[in-house]
Amino acid sequence: MTEIPHNVDAAEVAKFDALAARWWDPDGEFRPLHEINPLRLDWIRQHVDLAGASALDIGCGGGILTEAMANAGARVTGIDMAEKPLGVAHLHQLESGAEVEYLQSTAEDLSAERSGQYDVVTCLEMLEHVPSPSRVIASATQLVRPGGHVFFSTINRNPKSFLFAIVGAEYVLRLLPAGTHEYQKFIRPSELESWARKAGLEHRASIGLHYNPLTREYSLGPNVDVNYLMYFRRPEAE
Ligand code: SAH
Repeated sequence: MTEIPHNVDAAEVAKFDALAARWWDPDGEFRPLHEINPLRLDWIRQHVDLAGASALDIGCGGGILTEAMANAGARVTGIDMAEKPLGVAHLHQLESGAEVEYLQSTAEDLSAERSGQYDVVTCLEMLEHVPSPSRVIASATQLVRPGGHVFFSTINRNPKSFLFAIVGAEYVLRLLPAGTHEYQKFIRPSELESWARKAGLEHRASIGLHYNPLTREYSLGPNVDVNYLMYFRRPEAE
């Protein structure tokens, strides 16, 4: 058996392996990722021009954001620790014609060999699935070049986010399979910002991601109580 690297939760990776075949089904378990993808891609593009940029997508899964960034003109590497979603990502790009380099790796491992090589690093909906999110943030910082751009998204931790992201999304509205998220792994924006600051990143912007159950539509807005994205820059070298 291959040894499981540090900072990988095998049970979490197994959850994504089990659902991999459904990754690109717009009505399947990953429907929310398909629906939020144009919004998050737009937000990223408001801050950085992806055309010609080198980008790394950490925890890329089946490649929904990864391919979208490639289609926007970036040279993209997607990494994940789950083998099956990576296989699906690879097959999907053969069909779609998007060009992405997919690797099975942790951010920590890749940071040793590709330090400072990326203009843009994204790590969306992944930090709440790892044992030590601060270590992923430190690796992302090492992987981006000085002056480069880093984006994270995750779920806030408070009574409202428990109600909306777990009770509402998994049990009432059934937007996601039950057990997708664990409340204690959610991350407050203040925690994410402080880990990023310690790693050497400067906070530039935050935005909330909202779901309206009546219209069944997602939107971006200032309230970061539940789902949110954060944008950072690594300072230019002195
Ligand atoms: N970022 C993608 C997928 C989010 S799902 C998107 O937003 O569309 C979370 C992904 O993180 C899964 O594919 C899971 O396998 C991956 N993951 C979990 N722990 C990981 C780790 N330690 N290293 C790399 N990927 C990991």
